[in-house]
Amino acid sequence: MRQLIIAGNWKMHKTVAEALSFVQELQSSGLDSRVEVVVCPAFTALAPVAEALKGSAIRLAAQNMHWEAQGAFTGEISPLMLKELGCKYVILGHSERRQYDGETDEKVNRKVKAALEHSLIPIICVGETLEQREAGKTAVTVETQTRAALSGLTTEQVAGLVFAYEPVWAIGTGKTASDQDAQQVNGLIREIIAGAYGAEAADAVRIQYGGSVKPANTRGLMSQPDIDGALVGGASLKVEDFAGIISEAQ
Ligand code: 13P
Repeated sequence: MRQLIIAGNWKMHKTVAEALSFVQELQSSGLDSRVEVVVCPAFTALAPVAEALKGSAIRLAAQNMHWEAQGAFTGEISPLMLKELGCKYVILGHSERRQYDGETDEKVNRKVKAALEHSLIPIICVGETLEQREAGKTAVTVETQTRAALSGLTTEQVAGLVFAYEPVWAIGTGKTASDQDAQQVNGLIREIIAGAYGAEAADAVRIQYGGSVKPANTRGLMSQPDIDGALVGGASLKVEDFAGIISEAQ
């Protein structure tokens, strides 16, 4: 049985003070341990949030990283630095980075390998734009991104990964993919992994859905056989909404 993973990607929101008050409130809201809960603050809030989460079941993730452990890369953050802070996960290949920061499939693959070398678990984001969906290119887009991200990994490494299917047209738009559409693409990702790495690895990989997830649509999405959690943007910024999603996901 795959444990559900609900992650809140705060994007470029929350000062340190706001991040701390969020996690304090979330911890006191009585979480159920059946779901793995992850928060993904901005880099500036990672260390104080890590400190505040000591002894808690809530896990920490970064939103991006460079693939080198150190070097002359001004403005970048390395896997070594994230590991030191106690991050368990790192989001890689988010569509906003692909769109605004030139994150190519090749870069995502380098980052995935680097994360694994430093014992960070990548949350690999894939998903089609509206244009690609309308042109009937959803499957080919997701397949290309998925295969590229996995290039050069061992079966054991693949089995431990988390994917997030995030259709770009559903991010921050209030338009959610239907339960069936999301299931179809999540199922496709699992099939691709099964074909390349075998059924065991495919069964172990957790595949989230992301894109306008809120408490009201969580239950339907989470009841799909290949949806193993959610990567939540806007609705992860308020404790009430995020806790609502966690409780609906049970
Ligand atoms: P929204 O939940 O705001 O649509 O964002 C989804 C997302 O991009 C999470 O990574």
